[in-house]
Amino acid sequence: MSQTMLISGGSRGIGRATALLAAGAGWDVAFTYRANRTAAEQVVAEIESLGGRAQAIAGDVAIEADVLRAFDRTQTTFGRLDAVVVNAGIVGSALPLAKMSVERMQQMFDTNILGAFLFAREAARRLPGQEGGASIVFVSSAAARLGSPFEYVDYAASKGAIDTLTIGLSKELAGQGIRVNAVRPGLIETEIHASGGQPDRAQRLGQTVPMARPGSAQEVARSILWLCSDDASYCTGALLDVAGGR
Ligand code: NAP
Repeated sequence: MSQTMLISGGSRGIGRATALLAAGAGWDVAFTYRANRTAAEQVVAEIESLGGRAQAIAGDVAIEADVLRAFDRTQTTFGRLDAVVVNAGIVGSALPLAKMSVERMQQMFDTNILGAFLFAREAARRLPGQEGGASIVFVSSAAARLGSPFEYVDYAASKGAIDTLTIGLSKELAGQGIRVNAVRPGLIETEIHASGGQPDRAQRLGQTVPMARPGSAQEVARSILWLCSDDASYCTGALLDVAGGR
């Protein structure tokens, strides 16, 4: 029986690349998305055309009932749960803190912090312990250690919370055989930059990275898959930078 992976925000970007890579490696894949149903259906179709099994589930990670439904449907459809990738996240437009509205900060923290906590809490409740070899991977960001001044310190701080959650939850679950790790991507070419009003951000700033280029969603996905695999069997509480030296 195939292993099952549930990804938050798997319809586009890093989540999408993770879904496709996991399906290609034999995982059954369930993923959530918030609004873009067409993109979600394309991911399912692509996986099914390659002979894999996938389920797209609409819902907002910041709404508890939506998160519970996503886990219920994953377990009902595939009959098991082995890995959870806590990926869904947003950025805002580039602003110094002094110009940020409370509505913007609220939305940022609801999605990136509360949403990640709810998704991770359900994973902690439902992943099989001991012999299962289950794992949780958070998608944090290099912003957690860079601070993102004048762009989005709210976003950077939300990822700092994810790093701390990774460390704490890894210690809570280690005795049950559940590994908890995070990847910290740097500048990755996805649509998230356009959603923050800077569609060329990854290309433009990619030149300032020590490796002199932005990364791809696939490069991040490969790290996530590795952390979910038995090859990372002694890895827990790790914050893995996938940032080209940035
Ligand atoms: P993206 O291309 O904008 O895709 C975001 C995905 O998350 C989409 O599937 C979106 O669904 C979903 N999503 C957004 N808000 C959601 C919500 N409230 N509930 C459920 N799903 C939601 O973003 P990305 O670049 O792949 O980013 C993925 C993760 O990597 C984020 O946590 C981000 O902070 C992190 N990251 C990205 C970069 C980068 O340079 N790209 C760097 C460091 C870290 P819809 O399609 O329905 O909107």
